[in-house]
This record gives sequence, C-alpha cells and structure tokens, in this order.
Amino acid sequence: MSTVILTATAAQLGEWIAAGSPTSVEVTQAFLDRIEQVEPTVNAFISVDAEGALAQAARIDERIAAGEQLGPLAGVPIGVKDLLCYQALPTTAASRMLENWTPPYDATIIERLLEAGLVIVGKTNLDEFAMGSTTENSAFGVTRNPWDVERVPGGSGGGSAAALAALEVPLAIGTDTGGSIRQPASFTGTVGVKPTYGGTSRYGVVAMASSLDQPGPCARTVADAALLHQVIAGHDPRDSTSVDQPVPPVVEAATSGDVKGLRVGIVRELEGEGFAPEVMERFEAAVAALREAGAEVVEVECPNFAHAVSAYYLVMPSEVSSNLSRYDAMRYGLRVGDDGENSTEQVMRMTRGAGFGPEVKRRIIIGTYALSSGYYDAYYGSAQKVRTLIQRDFEAAFADCDVLISPTVPSTAWKLGERIDDPLALYASDLCTIPSNMAGNASASFPFGQASGLPVGVQVMAPPMADDRLYRVGAALERVMPVALAPFASDPTQSTQEVQA
Ligand code: GLN
Repeated sequence: MSTVILTATAAQLGEWIAAGSPTSVEVTQAFLDRIEQVEPTVNAFISVDAEGALAQAARIDERIAAGEQLGPLAGVPIGVKDLLCYQALPTTAASRMLENWTPPYDATIIERLLEAGLVIVGKTNLDEFAMGSTTENSAFGVTRNPWDVERVPGGSGGGSAAALAALEVPLAIGTDTGGSIRQPASFTGTVGVKPTYGGTSRYGVVAMASSLDQPGPCARTVADAALLHQVIAGHDPRDSTSVDQPVPPVVEAATSGDVKGLRVGIVRELEGEGFAPEVMERFEAAVAALREAGAEVVEVECPNFAHAVSAYYLVMPSEVSSNLSRYDAMRYGLRVGDDGENSTEQVMRMTRGAGFGPEVKRRIIIGTYALSSGYYDAYYGSAQKVRTLIQRDFEAAFADCDVLISPTVPSTAWKLGERIDDPLALYASDLCTIPSNMAGNASASFPFGQASGLPVGVQVMAPPMADDRLYRVGAALERVMPVALAPFASDPTQSTQEVQA
C-alpha cells in the first residue's frame, strides 16, 4: 500500500482521500515514514512537523467523513520552502540569522494551502536566503539529488525538488528569483513553475530581491503543478505587486495539452555554444515532439538576453543589500555580543558577521557598492536599462510566438563541491532562467528524459498572465515523455543504507 501512496500523483491522492480510502492520516503517515527513512541521506527538510501534520490530516478526514465537499488537494501532504512564514514551524531561510525564529503570522500562500486542506509536513532546505544554485549554501547541511546522491539537486530550492524526487512529498512550494524553482526542477526530473510576477502573493515570503521574487508550485506531474498553482495564485491585497486579475486557466490547460497551431519560438541566444551536447539532444527531442503534436516552431532572436546575467547580478544584490539590512540584531533573529559592554553598532556588526554565510555577505557587499553614491547610475541604473531591453526582446518575440522554449540549464546536475568555489561559473549557469525574472513573465521547467542517467529540463516561457500556456506545452511534453522516477525513488522500500552504498 505504501508504495502505491508514495508514487501516486497528488490528484489521485486527493481523489482517494475524498472517497475515504486511504485516509489523509494514512497518506500523511506513509510520507512521514518515507521522510524518516530517506532524510539521513537526502536532507531535503530543515524541519518536519509530524504531529501537526497528522492532526491536520485527521481534521480533513473528519470533515470528509461528515460529508463536506473539499477541494481536489484536500488531505494531500506538501513541503514548503523554508522561506515562507508559517506559525507552526520556525522559518530559518536556511540561515543562522533566523535559526529557531518562528514567525508570528502565516504567509498568504500558507493560508491558502491550509484553506484548501493541504497538509503541511515540513519546511524544505534551500541556499541561505535563497542565494545559490546548489543548496550547498544552507546553514543546515547540503541536500542530495535522489538521481545520484553525489550530485547537487540544484538551488536555491533544492530541498523542495529533492523531496519530490525522493517521494517524500507529492507537492512542494518553491520561490524563484533567478531560477530557484526551475533549475532544481531540471536537475531532479520534476516540474517547477515560476508564475507571472504578481501572479502569486509574496506576503510572508522572506524577501530576497523584491522586484524578482516569485513563489510557485513544484510537483512531479504537470496536472499536479496546475492544481497547486490554482490553490496558491490570485490577487492578494496584502502584496502591493499582486496582480488583480483572474488566475489564468491553468488546470484546463494542463488537462488539454493541445498545442496544435501553437507558435513556439526557439530562443537562439539560449542554445548552442556552452550547452552540453546531451542537453541539446534532449532539447531538440522536445522541439521535435512539439512539432509532431502540431506546434509551429520558429527561431527568434533576443539579443539582450546575453546581458541578463550581468544585469541580474547588479539588480539582485542591490535589492538584497537593502532587504537584508533588516537583520540588525535588534528586532528579531540572532543577536551576538550583547554583553552590556559592546555598542549597538558593534552588536550589529558581530551579529551580521556571525549570522550570514559567505555567499550572502558577498551579495550584500556587491549590492551596497552598486547602490553607493557615485556608482549608482553606472551600475544599478545601467542594469535597470538592460532590464528594459530584455523586456522589449520578450515583447518582440511574443508578437510572433505564443511561447518561447530553451533548455532550462545548459548542463545536468554537477557533483557536490564541484562548483561551489567558483561563484562566476554558478552565476553563469543561470543564463536561461534569469531573463524571465528580469521581465516578470511566466516560465516553467518540465522534465524531458535523461542524459547519462540524469534528468534534463526544458524551459517554456509565456507572456505575463498567460501562465496557462506553460501547462498546455508541459502536458504535451509529458504525453510523449511520461514522469520518470529517480532510481533512488523507484524502489521506495530501499533502506537508507542501501541507497548510500
Ligand atoms: N541561482 C540564482 C541565484 O543564486 C537564483 C536564486 C533564486 O532564484 N532564489 O541568485
């Protein structure tokens, strides 16, 4: 029974729970057991709330038994990136700065999950304050990729993606500032969607770079991601950047998968040189599959995408330096050196020195410099102009195409430790994902098979508030290349020891 539960889709689980067998408590227990079994190896979670999850599940079961009609995901377990405020568990952002800090309120997304009856089993691991591409920057240990436990799961949302691939949860929440939902999805063979900027609420999401941050759904199937998208999306008056428009018809699109006549643009700047040949081979297979399914494929040029990474590494750190100034040892979180002797400034300095890891410090320093008087126009100002040019490239491309596609990442998952000392190489690997954050349009990564045993993701980009097109294309791809489980996951009875061997 337990294998059937662990490998089921969230949609199936929701149907079974609604029919009373297995119950939400049974389903939740199966995932909690799985978490206990594989966490010593995978480390996808920072915290797990077994008791709270089972209590939530029991309440859902009672309501169902009483004849209440709940939504399609009621009773289904979910993991949430430890960057979203949730009163039931600490919100650490994977930083010593917020270790043991429990927020006094829930993020809007958490409220919506709970209202829809989802069962929050725990908070997933990430790079500290979502800065990184490997989850190696977490203060609470690295997360391992279930496809090869010697490899990174991607980042910053490596915990959410690895938890899905290791069958620890059927659904998860991520956040995407420069690719942190899509890149880990690509590395773990899962589905990750960055909604249109403003499509999901940022209220209660620990801010990294506010003009780029966007939470979104992570799942193993396209339909599951759409169901979760539907739950969390929509206007929130508590987030001033939230778009006050109806949620695009994502569930219908994921069901239809019809791409006949859809104009698909291959972005010339996001392929070719520097891309692993085996990644390009999978990408070309995906393009062929879409053509076969009736899409019209054209090539488009977006010349300013070549500058997206450079501009991002000015805009993002500038906003980071401003947002992270709130960790001042005075209001909440860590406080070091408060012995009555040290001045306030010394306490702040000691706290920030001890509380932030090296990558976070690097970005605060870069951002402070980029915003400093005399350099502001040259750095931050120029980067904002490049941002406008990237937006115009998208506008021009979307005049001719309904969606754009590219590989999600130029390579498959690399080994733990392989790139962590080379920040520029890590930054450069985000070249495909960053343009959509800079422009604010919708974007997703869908798995399309493996290369040398490692998953490869295809990125689909759609105009703002046309998120449904992502799901249409994702469903078409999934029909040709159904969900593949990581070898680690395909035998859920495997013990941790066997996995490590
Ligand atoms: N890898 C990117 C970075 O390090 C993306 C981060 C993110 O999307 N949160 O900035």
